[in-house]
Amino acid sequence: MTKVPNGFEIIQLFEQFSPKAYAVEGDKIGLQIGSLNKPIHNIMVALDVLEEVVDEAIRKNVDLIIAHHPPIFRPMKSINIDTPAGRIVAKCIKHDIAVYAAHTNLDVAEGGVNDLLAEALELQNTSVSAPTYEEKYKKLVVYVPKDSAQAVRDAVCQAGAGFIGNYSHCTFTQEGTGTFLPSGNTNPYIGEVGKLEEVEESRIETIFQSSIEKKVIKAMLVAHPYEEVAYDIFSLANQGESLGLGRIGKLQEEMTLEEFAYHVKKSLGVEGVRVVGNLQGKVKKVAVLGGDGNKYISQAKFKGADVFVTGDLYYHVAHDAMMMGLAIVDPGHHIEHIMKKGVTSYLAKVFEEKKYQVAIFPSEGSTDPFRFL
Ligand SMILES: [Zn+2]
Repeated sequence: MTKVPNGFEIIQLFEQFSPKAYAVEGDKIGLQIGSLNKPIHNIMVALDVLEEVVDEAIRKNVDLIIAHHPPIFRPMKSINIDTPAGRIVAKCIKHDIAVYAAHTNLDVAEGGVNDLLAEALELQNTSVSAPTYEEKYKKLVVYVPKDSAQAVRDAVCQAGAGFIGNYSHCTFTQEGTGTFLPSGNTNPYIGEVGKLEEVEESRIETIFQSSIEKKVIKAMLVAHPYEEVAYDIFSLANQGESLGLGRIGKLQEEMTLEEFAYHVKKSLGVEGVRVVGNLQGKVKKVAVLGGDGNKYISQAKFKGADVFVTGDLYYHVAHDAMMMGLAIVDPGHHIEHIMKKGVTSYLAKVFEEKKYQVAIFPSEGSTDPFRFL
């Protein structure tokens, strides 16, 4: 049975891939325009929400735009439809197009912007170059009648709990005796009102990433037979997985900076690149950070990169890189358009699994403001 999903169902799936918690502080992410409380038939994935992108969405009967760059980034003081920024909001509202932004959370996400770029550049053994987020873990302890223990364990593991490194379904169960006294106004699963009950119970423990807490607890409560479930959640001090912006990895073969610059140009399909450094110098270790990486040159150098691929490079930052002996290749900010195909193919796959009847496609036009002559 296929079904037409609503906006919340779509975003719930998307946020499993690119959780909001991954965004850097103060980023403007999430629903920016319109409502998710409606059926979604057509989704368009865009890098930027410019007026021509909204016009394309109107032509294609789009209900939801998933964008990388939030159209409302600085506070808007007015929605004046004589300005392009005002018209973008007004046209979306008028044509019932919701706009949802996933910005730095999509940069950080596994399989997001930076992984897609690292993959396009054929980097091997990549890791995070600029950590921004450490996954925190929590522990769930729940008491459940013995015969329901398996169902509760399965439910929480299905919801994503119980992962330790590459091991899934990590839980611990201990048997014991639980007691309870049902008072008036209760409808106990076991026992009678006013009578002290003793019951064979299992104490199940497992850990989960705090970003999926709601999902895990909900799954546990649904699978648990009791009206009032006894459970504890503990915050853990264990060090979690470190996620972040940018990736660093190695080229299969060492090459000159000049050869590498042409490799970047070709693999990312850009008209031109700006290069800082000795063109005949050798490069092997590469850091890449989609968007504006000016703040991250020292980190790239510190991580041992020979060359850093990033956009929007400033003149003085280029000098700093030159002086610290870090080569830079700047292919522009627009290379992040790689997310259009990446997000489209990820969501198309999960929609198919869910049997969601919804079309998803990348926005067609280029929003690169720069031309090379
Ligand atoms: Zn960007």
